[in-house]
Amino acid sequence: MFDSKPHSQYSQHMNKIYLDYNATAPIRPEVIEIMTSAMKSAHNASSVHYAGRAGRRYVEDAREVIAKLTNLPAAQIIFNSGATEGNNTTLRYFAKQYPNEQILISAIEHPSVIEAIPNTAIIPVTPSGTIDLNALETLLKDNKTSLVSTMLVNNETGIIQPIKAISDLVHKHGALLHVDGVQAAGRVAIDAPAMGIDFLTLSAHKLGGPQGVGALCLGLCGITPTLLHGGGQEKSARAGTENVAGIAGFGKAADLAMTEIEHYQSRLTALREHLESTLKQSKHVKIYGQSAPRVANTTLLSLPGLSSETLLMNFDLEGIAISNGSACSSGKVEPSHVLKAMNEPKITASGALRISMGWDTKPEDIETFLTAWNKIYTRMESKILAD
Ligand code: PLP
Repeated sequence: MFDSKPHSQYSQHMNKIYLDYNATAPIRPEVIEIMTSAMKSAHNASSVHYAGRAGRRYVEDAREVIAKLTNLPAAQIIFNSGATEGNNTTLRYFAKQYPNEQILISAIEHPSVIEAIPNTAIIPVTPSGTIDLNALETLLKDNKTSLVSTMLVNNETGIIQPIKAISDLVHKHGALLHVDGVQAAGRVAIDAPAMGIDFLTLSAHKLGGPQGVGALCLGLCGITPTLLHGGGQEKSARAGTENVAGIAGFGKAADLAMTEIEHYQSRLTALREHLESTLKQSKHVKIYGQSAPRVANTTLLSLPGLSSETLLMNFDLEGIAISNGSACSSGKVEPSHVLKAMNEPKITASGALRISMGWDTKPEDIETFLTAWNKIYTRMESKILAD
């Protein structure tokens, strides 16, 4: 039977340091508050009675916030179950509607884009981690293209892509642009019309909201990609009873992130500068993306010759949650496809570690991380392969 009592492993992480915000951010207390209040009543937002109308209010208030976050009209925001759904909805819709036209995705996309449809053509990135605009233009010239999908901020490196330059090229060649904005929301300003974005995918749990809720935001091209059919929810663009509490939590998290964005950027930039300048004192550390624009919260580094799995386990034993850049498939750990696309040799890519901070990261957390780093680095230094 499901044990409903909080499990010590799942409840308070005493003396633990969480630096894996790009995987998921801790939920914000204000978000828990609004979700708790929304969950206390039965709210089917489609019901006409008083309880349904109260549910509708939560949903429409959140829609206004996401509209403000993206600078789009509220009517263009469709709530769904998160970014995997938003990405699949858009790519599958275009693959079905335009079977004779190609779909381009960048080489550094999240698996929810890469695996959404077969037969995509891949746009390479430069060694500095940004999309190769010349290669994109050649691909657009070579074949009629219906859709191009590129992320705004990469989840592994934190590198910000030149979306306006990409959308100019895409539109010049008569295609539309889908942008996975998951790792950008709340970290950099998103002005979808000014950036020329036609479809924008968002997810609540990377910015302090709940898991399992997100939005597909429509630009002004007039197309509504649809995946799920059934009830008429979300103006028939996404069937299924609205996740009222989740949507309310998403709205609250986005509202807080928007209000705090400048403070967030300056606070985390200072923390990251301290983190990276200290890390660079250890020999052979490579930090990625330093020559490209990056969001303030992410550091991706590597130690050549070491395995990120071993490093992660060492940090976990110290009570520190960080991530690697690798994906595990069929029991075999492969170096990250993102670093591979940046031409990074396997020897360095295999020892990649990602540290990602967020709304609740404090200077003491970075000091604790650096103390653990020194201990682990000293222990493993002899195994590092110098160039
Ligand atoms: N896109 C990016 C860039 C991500 O980082 C993630 C989450 O890891 C997703 C999409 C998938 O988001 P969700 O968990 O909402 O399905």
